[in-house]
Amino acid sequence: MNQYQLVVIGAGPGGYVAAIRAAQLGLKTAVIENRDVGGTCLNRGCIPTKALLHASEVYRQAKEAYSLGVDILQASYQMDRIHEKKEKVVLQLRGGVEQLFKANKIDLIRGSAAILAPHKVSVTGGENSLLTTDHILIATGSVPSCPPIPGIDLPGVVSSDQILEGDPIDYKSLVIIGGGVIGVEFATFYQNLGCEVAIIEAMDRLLPTMDREISQNLGMILKKRGGSIHTGARVEKITKQDGMLFCHFTQNGQEYSVQAQGILVAVGRRPNTKGLFGSEVSIQMDRGRIVTENDFSTSLPNIWAIGDVTSSVQLAHLASAQGIAAAERIAGHQSSVDLSVVPSCIYTDPEIASVGLSADEAKAQGIAVQTGKFLMAANGKTIIEGKDRGFIKVVCDAESGVLLGAQLMCARATDLIGEFANGITNHLTAEQMRRVIRPHPTFSEAITEAFEDIEGRAIHIAPKRKPAK
Ligand code: NAD
Repeated sequence: MNQYQLVVIGAGPGGYVAAIRAAQLGLKTAVIENRDVGGTCLNRGCIPTKALLHASEVYRQAKEAYSLGVDILQASYQMDRIHEKKEKVVLQLRGGVEQLFKANKIDLIRGSAAILAPHKVSVTGGENSLLTTDHILIATGSVPSCPPIPGIDLPGVVSSDQILEGDPIDYKSLVIIGGGVIGVEFATFYQNLGCEVAIIEAMDRLLPTMDREISQNLGMILKKRGGSIHTGARVEKITKQDGMLFCHFTQNGQEYSVQAQGILVAVGRRPNTKGLFGSEVSIQMDRGRIVTENDFSTSLPNIWAIGDVTSSVQLAHLASAQGIAAAERIAGHQSSVDLSVVPSCIYTDPEIASVGLSADEAKAQGIAVQTGKFLMAANGKTIIEGKDRGFIKVVCDAESGVLLGAQLMCARATDLIGEFANGITNHLTAEQMRRVIRPHPTFSEAITEAFEDIEGRAIHIAPKRKPAK
């Protein structure tokens, strides 16, 4: 029987980062994984989708290059080759994770883990074995939710996993059920390639948890590119006729249907705990999620859990940060990361990113705020790149000026957001955020301008005109 100090179940961005940190702190560590290392993020999520999005963006830019004075005759794409490139990126990064395991002397055990008792883990369906360990860290992630819609099992109705891991399909028309993060990113990818996209969203707007202005802007942009967006819609059933799929839904009491070559179901992800616990083990759960305390302990001694299997915020970078903190806790150290501020990014065009509180959220919490806004139409780099629709909004405490939140919809928003996450984590004020020299010409200059707007000293924003008498 193999003896470890820590057995991590799941080699996604939560599990593999935790294992490496634990090994760095001197724990004899094993990781058990029944699919490829890297988890959803690397194999069926963040990385492959961004590889697809990058290729489709290059194609769309090539088609629009004429306006820059550049002639690209007959830009075209091959879906097989776009997926091949995506696979290469995934393989390269997967190899990197396996290398890190070796370098840190972590045993990677292939197979499915089941927790038989607080110190006992069995591995089956691979390198079958029985492990004993001081601690177990569950990092098994999540899997796509499959709502009970009649017809959801019809061929051609797929999840994001199937699009990313299955045979590449060059959809000419696609219905997406769910206008959340996965829905709008896939809508962007397929629209870039000229596919006709319809989104059916249950709530009253796309990205219902995002800033309202961002949702509305995105809806307009997707429509302008030919998409049809149906919000406040309830999907009733899916049918198939003559090779086409029909998605039937009701909206304001009226019945509608949209047809397409394929239907992507993107209505959220549920915690992955299938087969994880032996019959003798009972752990506290809430709606399928493993319940954890702030220190990642579960209801069972020496069993810890992190990432999507525990949290309603399902983000790779949060799981990784939790992995570091959990490994440090298990090894008896203080946490070296701040988990209180979690940025979120959406890879549409323009990109969307948000961190901390929006003005509406602050208001709901009774916090008086001052806000600043900069429209990217006045940013030089934005005009050069023709990405004129977008903005940066900042929210600061009215009294202290401390930064509380930022919402961005602009080119490179997913990179710029790091500066705001830093500002909020370190309690910087609007004045401290504004006084930094940012290089010119860049998108990041807009950050200065958004804070200047708070102080009423904006330079590139046209002064508000007094209404005519
Ligand atoms: P989500 O929760 O972001 O969106 C699901 C959407 O589906 C919601 O808007 C919801 O109202 C809608 N919905 C639910 N049931 C419906 C129904 N029957 N009919 C129509 N609409 C319905 O979930 P997701 O987009 O599936 O993503 C899953 C998780 O993965 C999320 O937590 C997300 O944050 C994460 N993710 C993150 C990124 C990123 O960080 N860029 C990218 C992809 C996924």
